[in-house]
Amino acid sequence: MKIGVLGSGQLGQMMCLEAVPLGYGFYCYSPEKNSPAEKVGAKATTSSYESLDQIEKFINEVDVLSFEFENIPKQTLDFLSNQKNVSVFPPPKALIIAQDRFLEKSHFRKLGFRTANFFHLTRDTANIAVAIPFPWIIKTLRFGYDGKGQVKIRTEEEYKEFLNTAFLSDASEYLIEEVIPFQKEISIILTRFQNGDIVCYGAVENEHKDHILDLSIFPARIPVALNLEAIEMASKLAESLHYVGTLGVEFFLLDNHLYLNEFAPRPHNTGHYTQDCQSFSQFYLHVQAIVGKLPPTDVRPKPTLMKNILGNSYEESLTIANELLKDDRYHLHLYAKEEAKQGRKMGHMNFKGNLEEVNPLFHEL
Ligand code: ATP
Ligand code: MG
Repeated sequence: MKIGVLGSGQLGQMMCLEAVPLGYGFYCYSPEKNSPAEKVGAKATTSSYESLDQIEKFINEVDVLSFEFENIPKQTLDFLSNQKNVSVFPPPKALIIAQDRFLEKSHFRKLGFRTANFFHLTRDTANIAVAIPFPWIIKTLRFGYDGKGQVKIRTEEEYKEFLNTAFLSDASEYLIEEVIPFQKEISIILTRFQNGDIVCYGAVENEHKDHILDLSIFPARIPVALNLEAIEMASKLAESLHYVGTLGVEFFLLDNHLYLNEFAPRPHNTGHYTQDCQSFSQFYLHVQAIVGKLPPTDVRPKPTLMKNILGNSYEESLTIANELLKDDRYHLHLYAKEEAKQGRKMGHMNFKGNLEEVNPLFHEL
């Protein structure tokens, strides 16, 4: 069985590291050379996501196609939706929805979920009064990640200023969102199998620094009922998308209410703790789901922390990581990226235990 994946970053790398020992061939496709996935042995095709000829050649080589990167051009996703000779999991439609913040939040609302109030801002709607009280976060409609393409708007004047330059490019579109003064951010990582069964360990609690995920705490320290509600919402979302594979769903928690923020149609950074939670990792479950295996029935994940390692002061982080590795509860996962840049995710460290037990050095990573 050969697995093909569009994208070749760290998520593809970690999928490959699970797929190969299970006996599957692992092929990745992206415009990048020397990618993290290629570095651990994925067979790489280097070409653009727009090139349907190359994509067609690639899918002819594999038995199942998946994604580790969601910003695949819509035309390519439409092309993949029409392929008969290869199974594509998750369905391309899930990526089409996730790519467009307006489609995504509208889909959540259709399912009856609470979200921040939002407004689709385009050149054509820019003169309409927005009935959302300040403050807002304006996000580019597409291609945002790690908080990139987001601005906070506090007053009418700031909004006017924003509009002055908002449509310099014709293609610009945005989503205006009400700021939710949340108490916590949590996420649900689940894997849906081809028979419709779902494996989910429950909510993980996430802390961001400078809009980038910094720390994940599993299990999330939230009431049982909210945990169950989050699992139910994420499962309902997965079902609505006919999803197969691992899915990450982000929530804000405010006064015992869950607001759906967004989903990622792939394994998710906040699910990296699963690699060392003494159960199945999100990458293992993704691989098993897309190749058509049945889900595991006994899962016993243990408390685990995950701390991201960014390109900022990378050398110092590595020194700390090596110190922590004297203790067998710490596990280092580096992505073998070519260059350590400010804000770039270079790796992460997991700790098998809870916050009370972790070495304070972990927070310095
Ligand atoms: P990522 O790739 O990091 O998940 P992204 O760039 O796609 O993120 P979001 O997840 O929507 O964008 O936003 C990043 C972070 O900004 C959120 O995790 C949250 O901390 C904050 N944020 C986003 N939207 C809101 C909102 N409506 N109210 C309050 N905070 C928000
Ligand atoms: Mg997010």
